[in-house]
Amino acid sequence: MAEQSNLTFGIIKPDAVRAGKFGNIIQRIVDNDFKIRAMKLIHMTREEAEGFYDVHRERPFFGELTTFMSSAPCVVMALEKKGAVKAWRDLMGATDPAKADAGTLRKEFGGSLGENAVHGSDSEENAEIEIGYFFSKLELV
Ligand code: GDP
Repeated sequence: MAEQSNLTFGIIKPDAVRAGKFGNIIQRIVDNDFKIRAMKLIHMTREEAEGFYDVHRERPFFGELTTFMSSAPCVVMALEKKGAVKAWRDLMGATDPAKADAGTLRKEFGGSLGENAVHGSDSEENAEIEIGYFFSKLELV
């Protein structure tokens, strides 16, 4: 098992899957030297999306966010790389695709602040929690 600091959790969100862009995003992940330790296509229920985004429960966009995240399938992933949390967030780009740097996934594939193509953990602690929300230890290869 790799050090936790080398693992992060990512989602290819429903907008990108619906648009048929998940293959392009997986290719970018591989090209950027992440090792995919676990990956599956799931369709979250509203309750599962609410559980995942529990920290945002009081935010005004919570309903919109969890409706969107449960609207269609998404791809959940455990990704390994040195300094994975920062490396994956750097590749994703800013939350708002309009403000994301050129060459980032959100710039290329995100459509709006809410529907921004990808998710990434914001800390090593949350990466561990989020990987555990979707994967058992046995599912990490
Ligand atoms: P992230 O860590 O870059 O994903 O950003 P945040 O933790 O601030 O927000 C989590 C997710 O909530 C974002 O990726 C967006 O999908 C969504 N989100 C953030 N702000 C808004 C908003 O103002 N409106 C809507 N609809 N969604 C938002």
